[in-house]
Amino acid sequence: MKNRHASSKGMPACAVIGAGVLGLCSAIQAQRKGYRVTLYDRQPPGKGASYGNAGYLACELIDPLATPETLRQAPKLWLDPDGPLALPLRHLPALVPWLLRFVASARPKALAESQKALRALNEDAVPAWTRLLEPLGLTQHLVKSGYMLVWESDAKQEQAKTHADYLARFNIQTQWLDKADLVTMEPEMGAQLSHGLFFPNAWRVQEPYMLVEALYAAFLREGGRFFESAVEKVLPTGNGQAEVRSEDGSEVFDRAIICAGAWSRSLLKPLGLSVPLEAERGYHLTYPEQKAVLNYPMGSAERRLVMTPLASGLRVVGMSELGGLSLSPFKRRYEVLKKHASALIPSLKAHSERCETWMGHRPTLPDSLPVLDRHPEHPQIGFAFGNQHLGLTQAAISSELLWCALDGEKAPVDMAPYRVTRF
Ligand SMILES: Cc1cc2nc3c(=O)[nH]c(=O)nc-3n(C[C@H](O)[C@H](O)[C@H](O)COP(=O)(O)OP(=O)(O)OC[C@H]3O[C@@H](n4cnc5c(N)ncnc54)[C@H](O)[C@@H]3O)c2cc1C
Repeated sequence: MKNRHASSKGMPACAVIGAGVLGLCSAIQAQRKGYRVTLYDRQPPGKGASYGNAGYLACELIDPLATPETLRQAPKLWLDPDGPLALPLRHLPALVPWLLRFVASARPKALAESQKALRALNEDAVPAWTRLLEPLGLTQHLVKSGYMLVWESDAKQEQAKTHADYLARFNIQTQWLDKADLVTMEPEMGAQLSHGLFFPNAWRVQEPYMLVEALYAAFLREGGRFFESAVEKVLPTGNGQAEVRSEDGSEVFDRAIICAGAWSRSLLKPLGLSVPLEAERGYHLTYPEQKAVLNYPMGSAERRLVMTPLASGLRVVGMSELGGLSLSPFKRRYEVLKKHASALIPSLKAHSERCETWMGHRPTLPDSLPVLDRHPEHPQIGFAFGNQHLGLTQAAISSELLWCALDGEKAPVDMAPYRVTRF
């Protein structure tokens, strides 16, 4: 595979680096644009963050991670050994510049801009998934499930009401749930709860890994190629093409798109670009036979975890651990998740030795927005990464907007907040 040209039979060629949910959606959009597409990943498709997420399309999460409220609560959450926030000391020195930018993102003007740009993605997220999946015959992966956000403490009723009023300003509909509603809707959990909000228009997927497998199969059916190979560099060529150098050789394409999730930063460096991308590590437990203990996906406002009944079982996800790319998972985080899950659903305690454990890297920028853009000097090279906690939710809409940027087309939303050069 030495310096081959990938275009053939008059079709332009496109390379996509990273076969997570962002890379797969971007690759399918490239096929729709008439490209012969080659997907690269150093591991089988969908084994990064896209493997083990909660499978919830969290369109109501319209606030960036950095808000005055999260900054105020952060020290308490960090110091709590059972809390949802972790900053491993070994990674802390490398994290300081990112943290400073994160704090700056909570300033009123920056916050308002990020909120607007997040809403623009989330508002069209489910319709974009339908646009992507319908022509492939895959809409059965989307489930209009509803979602409940719950509180255990009676003292937090006002907090829930204020949150519902806030969401209503953005047309996000919620219904109040009292204890009796919760016991009826979720018999295994309701007795532990005080009140909640139900989101009747919320969606989830059947199973995140099944979805990426189905996208990959559709990509192959449309003539896509997959190379299981680590990409070392993507470089512009003198004649407006892009060379992809992988551990197995080099190939030249008309277009190349970097969708390498939390690992994207190192691929931007040789292109003269720098982005403050961090790996925000999250953990999951999957209780294989316990899917039926919950009827709805749920989020605990106080414990800050999400549980979703998926095809593979009941999935519990949580933790925001700013731990970089090289540290191994910390086993004690699984114990913390088990403790919280069993407090909400006591029957899970008996199954805690048989659950699957996993840790993944969310790609997170300080302003909580992704990069959806093309290179300012080499427009044949594009970028789609950085969707933090919302990469599954936003993958389809992000891939549509990326292609607007690549083709220099007018997008339906303002693309300035997603620029690669914004930092
Ligand atoms: C615990 C947890 C729960 C979550 N829950 C949700 C949820 O419910 N809803 C939601 O919307 N989002 C959720 N997320 C976030 C979501 O999973 C991510 O934002 C999304 O999967 C990111 O997709 P991606 O394609 O950008 O990255 P990834 O899925 O990580 O894919 C990147 C790929 O690039 C490959 N790669 C990297 N570097 C190279 C290289 N040099 N050469 C070749 N290949 C390379 C990697 O191997 C990887 O396969 C969750 C995340 C976690 C960790």
